[in-house]
Amino acid sequence: MESRYDTRLVISCKSLSNESHRFEFHINSAFFDAYGNADIHSAELIVQVALRKMGAVQFEVSVGITGTARVPCDRCLDPVDIQVNYRADMAEEEIEEAYNTDLGEMDLGQYVYDSVCVSIPIQRIHRDETLCNRQMLDIWKKNSGGMTAENGAFAALKELINNNK
Ligand SMILES: [Zn+2]
Repeated sequence: MESRYDTRLVISCKSLSNESHRFEFHINSAFFDAYGNADIHSAELIVQVALRKMGAVQFEVSVGITGTARVPCDRCLDPVDIQVNYRADMAEEEIEEAYNTDLGEMDLGQYVYDSVCVSIPIQRIHRDETLCNRQMLDIWKKNSGGMTAENGAFAALKELINNNK
């Protein structure tokens, strides 16, 4: 079955007329895999591009990215969906970087990849602790805090000493 998802976000600009054009791409985890990103488990994102050609190699490009990206929760490691809602006009340097003069192609892959990465918050957690994986939280809490003489390193040491008596 052919996937309806795009892994290359390339627009061939050579034959475009000097006016505004709209393009739409659909990306999922395969796109992020191609950039070596193992953090994004799955994604359903729509990339909308408005490209205005003003001359042979002169463009104005604005990009909108909407949808969800699924990443592991920092607190419990269960998947958490992050809403992505990005919209920006590309800077002149960004357009220059994306445009391959020899091929006459605009490759928006790197730009879109970077934009999604910056729109995902640094701390990704379920918005409420009750949505987290209970078991994982218990294990985590047991191993990070509450270290006492009874259950922590001290107890293990005590046991070791007792066994060697
Ligand atoms: Zn969680």
